[in-house]
Amino acid sequence: MPKDTFYITTPLYYTNSTPHIGHAYSTIAADILARYHRVAATGRTHFLTGTDEHGQKIADAAAAAGKPPKEFCDEIVERWKRAWRDLDISYDQFIRTTDAVHESAVQQIFLKLREQGDIVAGVYEGWYCRNDETFWPEAKLIDGRCPNPECGRKVEWVSEDAWFFRLSAYRDRLGAHFHSHPAWVRPASAWNEMASLLRGGLDDLCVSRASVAWGIPIPGEDKTIYVWLDAICNYITAAGYPHDMERFATLWPADVQLIGKEILRFHTIIWPALLMALDLPLPKLVFANGWITMEGQKMSKSVGNVVRPAELTDRYSVDAIRYVLFAQAPFGVDFSFSEEALLRRYNAELANDFGNLVQRVLSMLVRYRQGVVPARSPGDELNVEFESALASVRECLQDVDFRGALSAIWERVGALNLYVEQSKPWVLHKAGDAAMLDGTLYNLCEGIRWIAALIYPFMPASAASVWSALGQTGVPGATWEERLRWGGLAPGQTVTMPPSPFPRVEREASPA
Ligand SMILES: [Zn+2]
Repeated sequence: MPKDTFYITTPLYYTNSTPHIGHAYSTIAADILARYHRVAATGRTHFLTGTDEHGQKIADAAAAAGKPPKEFCDEIVERWKRAWRDLDISYDQFIRTTDAVHESAVQQIFLKLREQGDIVAGVYEGWYCRNDETFWPEAKLIDGRCPNPECGRKVEWVSEDAWFFRLSAYRDRLGAHFHSHPAWVRPASAWNEMASLLRGGLDDLCVSRASVAWGIPIPGEDKTIYVWLDAICNYITAAGYPHDMERFATLWPADVQLIGKEILRFHTIIWPALLMALDLPLPKLVFANGWITMEGQKMSKSVGNVVRPAELTDRYSVDAIRYVLFAQAPFGVDFSFSEEALLRRYNAELANDFGNLVQRVLSMLVRYRQGVVPARSPGDELNVEFESALASVRECLQDVDFRGALSAIWERVGALNLYVEQSKPWVLHKAGDAAMLDGTLYNLCEGIRWIAALIYPFMPASAASVWSALGQTGVPGATWEERLRWGGLAPGQTVTMPPSPFPRVEREASPA
């Protein structure tokens, strides 16, 4: 079986913490693309997410909680799964690096690489940051501390017999790949950063740990496999490598791998080198999303400004969050998030522009036509504009441009609002111009049906509520190819008034 499935992945989330808005951002992005590809008639889609559960940090956190690591992870994993359920994340597969299939696959990968000479013996001595599970060259240390700006902890001198992945041997091939695929890492700033890192040369990577017990054992040795090697292989082990190569062939290479930019080096240098060593094709696109700052400040536990998705979904609908995060900034750049901005966009663009439009049009249909969709008026329809919006949305989402897609949709929302104002159905009704009123109401209802289908990847619940109010069945727009033909709304169809999809939210008075 050849590859026939759009395969999209999120980073694996580390189980020493629980989801915050930054994790939600990457995962919702993957969900939007997965839903889009499911309805956009491009074939099958596979959406993978999961958790990274090995390493010293997890062992320490579990010990602090007085639990065996696996039991500790079982509980944390439930919190991640619940967060994704709450945010309407439609993943197809959730991999845990403690899954037996993954563990055995990683062992097989390790042994294969060692057998073919890509993993070799050596001695590792160096400065090790326990928090980041990373060895740092002495030159990079800052005042003898970890150079990761997020960390800055004291490093330890570690010396051990170890196994090394011969990363340096892949430098030229990696460089060639970067230059023949200038868009394989996005945004462009990320490509540039990694291409210049390659020019500086690569060290071999230590891929075993004698000091870490909580990990995948190296067969026959008292060592474990480096947690990063273990975790990063999930994208292929989840797809069936090497235990189900038939399934693997339908999925790999991944079409889009979404990551945070702090893990670029792992995903665009180490990961492709491993794939080259395994003689596997590289992912088509690795896209690093930007960081969300809170009112301009980086989120951190110590500042106390970490936002949990659940705090927001208590006050706003899930769809409001899913919309605002992607309407706010182009994907790939850092942006500042504030509840103020969320509220402003929500009320203006969702409650006012879209929510009111739906209520207004459907109530006119109820008032003037007893809720029954009237006849079309050929020659005076909005098909051209909507077909061009559909083309723009497709083009944007193929290109991972969420904001561009939303703005193409909201241009149509704005145009329908203007159409109401200019065509004045209430005047047509008063004047008894039945044919004109029919055509106008038809255009409005059909336009709303298209918008419901187009917003589905972003706001599945709101899309479904409008979709079914218009008497449509199934997933909104599934599939666009079939359902997004102008005139798809059948005259004679009865509509119902949906509850307002986006009721206005007033700003709460700040607690005194
Ligand atoms: Zn560190």
